[in-house]
Amino acid sequence: MNKYEDYKKAYERIELVYHSSFGSDNADLDKIKELIEKEKPMKPLKHKPKKVGYKYKEYSCPSCKNILLYEEQRKCDNCGQKIDL
Ligand SMILES: [Zn+2]
Repeated sequence: MNKYEDYKKAYERIELVYHSSFGSDNADLDKIKELIEKEKPMKPLKHKPKKVGYKYKEYSCPSCKNILLYEEQRKCDNCGQKIDL
């Protein structure tokens, strides 16, 4: 089981308890869910090469569109999204 599935399982257990205590207000749960979703590896977006410094970069983060600076980058340094290479 990968980290994402592990976190998701834990989340689902917490969600049940949360709803019985706090009803349908999801504000706190949504924040946690947002964090967990960053652990799910996503394919980077490919676009026309953009010049960054002296080099051209053609991939960006699928969540926040931040340009990925390294070919082998596995996590966005802006929002923390896991990148699936
Ligand atoms: Zn990002």
